[in-house]
Amino acid sequence: MVAIDGPSGTGKSSTSKAVAAKLGLSYLDTGAQYRAITWWMLTHGVDVDDAAAVAEAAGRPVIESGTDPSAPTITADGEDASGPIRTPEVTAAVSAVSAVPEVRARITALQRHIAETAEGGIVVEGRDIGTTVLPGADLKVFLTASPEARAARRGGELKAQTGQADLAATRQALLKRDQADSNRKTSPLAKADDAVEVDTTELTLEQVIECVVTLIEE
Ligand code: C5P
Repeated sequence: MVAIDGPSGTGKSSTSKAVAAKLGLSYLDTGAQYRAITWWMLTHGVDVDDAAAVAEAAGRPVIESGTDPSAPTITADGEDASGPIRTPEVTAAVSAVSAVPEVRARITALQRHIAETAEGGIVVEGRDIGTTVLPGADLKVFLTASPEARAARRGGELKAQTGQADLAATRQALLKRDQADSNRKTSPLAKADDAVEVDTTELTLEQVIECVVTLIEE
């Protein structure tokens, strides 16, 4: 089992998917699971700013992840959530929903089950994988990058998706989300003591992939 954690815009998803594909491993995007439960709440009338309402609803949706790195899938109650989970509405609400302990307990149990039953190994990416979800992972990697590099990458993705991006607003939203993720009480975004930290600011995606593949093969 390989745990890859870090804040937004560090290249976590692209790296994790490519490493898993290269080594014939399964792949799990845990952010997509938190986004899917958030999307479900937004579309089922749950007030996402009301922690008690979110806690009460946490057990209701069935969230399922497909772990093929070349075609990962995510559904909520059987409905394809891969498009809607990337909308600004979900991105703005996901930190509050994922800070609710009942949501984390539910999603963490799901993640452990997927990781334990994956044949031939799995790359799991997120914020608390090395510290909380899979503390016994064979390798833990913590990716970092400067706020400027992270905003530029996220801005580039948004531009590709929507044709436009405001870099200053992207940077602000990204830092706000990281701050919320780092400061929540239950399993915050954090580097495990035994994780290898890789600063990706000056690295290309190919270099980061190579670096993680080398760490796995060592
Ligand atoms: O990785 P991504 O940006 O898709 O994650 C969306 C959000 O899901 C994060 O901002 C965070 O609030 C939450 N998350 C989490 N724990 C994880 C993965 C994601 O709380 N392991």
